[in-house]
Amino acid sequence: METPAFMPVATRGMMRGVLPAQLEELGSRMVLANAFHLFARPGTELVQKLGGVHGMLAWDGPILTDSGGFQVFSLGALGKVHANGVKVEHPVYGGYVDWTPQLAFETQVGLAPDVAMVLDVCPDAPLDQKKCAAAVERTVTWARVQRDLHDLRGGADSGQAQFGIVQGGVFADLREHCARSLIDLEFDGYAIGGVSVGDGHEAMMHGVEHSAHVLPQDRVRYLMGVGTPAELIESVARGIDIFDCVYPTRAGRFATALTDEGRMHMLNARFKDDTRVLDPGCTCPCCTSGVPRGALRAGFKAKELLPPILLSLHNLYYLHNLMHRMRKAIASGTFGELRQQILRAYLPTKITN
Ligand SMILES: [Zn+2]
Repeated sequence: METPAFMPVATRGMMRGVLPAQLEELGSRMVLANAFHLFARPGTELVQKLGGVHGMLAWDGPILTDSGGFQVFSLGALGKVHANGVKVEHPVYGGYVDWTPQLAFETQVGLAPDVAMVLDVCPDAPLDQKKCAAAVERTVTWARVQRDLHDLRGGADSGQAQFGIVQGGVFADLREHCARSLIDLEFDGYAIGGVSVGDGHEAMMHGVEHSAHVLPQDRVRYLMGVGTPAELIESVARGIDIFDCVYPTRAGRFATALTDEGRMHMLNARFKDDTRVLDPGCTCPCCTSGVPRGALRAGFKAKELLPPILLSLHNLYYLHNLMHRMRKAIASGTFGELRQQILRAYLPTKITN
């Protein structure tokens, strides 16, 4: 897979509004699913019977599963972290699940993605140094447990790679310490977690900077849960290779389209009698379908099924194409110009010249 690249998210083993056959056309090369959600429903054994995550998604390209750390911790007060795992309310059947590093590992062996993520501790207060330090210690301890299990299966030769996750909130020393501890364990790739729970763009970029510069250049650097155009290009500028985010499809469902002119909110009255297609010149299934902006707006207002799908397809295509443009710009030495262009459209306050 060429990098930098963006991975669309099929949390429960299914894309929202995107047909399996459309994924590759849109530019997807690798897809993300969530191990904890699939463990909860339909269950690891059932997914295995359906052909693993590849069978479920009807996708034979690479798949990465998240361990569910972020989801488990975002369930907030319900999640109780203890030395050996986190007690979390079962999202489907009630009662509690003890989601441990061992269970996260075994679940991902069963689901059979190409890349499995370790279970980490995502602190709910990225500005609290004490909490972040404790989360880092536990993250590293759990990483060691899972790395050993991975070794017992033969490491990446088993057919499944395993990535460690750097935590540490907004604190440079904690992030660096976490990254170095994970590097000592020699993971197949490295992810940076916990940057999207912080406070705004600046804090996010600091989290990326504090982590990325320590990580080895010959291993994948993956920034988790990040996916607006400005965040993507700013993170690529800081050395990130792959990303995942629900943003393009979620924004599409909420009538927001991504273009080189910035975000377009299709419920805006100015589109009422607009006969142009969503983004003239775009070659996505939405823009080539000929559906005018005014019809998309009317459809959203009437809660039709098609407009959210069409905007999801456009947004996904836009982000994949943006990554393609970044790859080309890096190769031709024009990345700086593309970066300015995207920032002008999406983060005008960040332009300094
Ligand atoms: Zn389009």
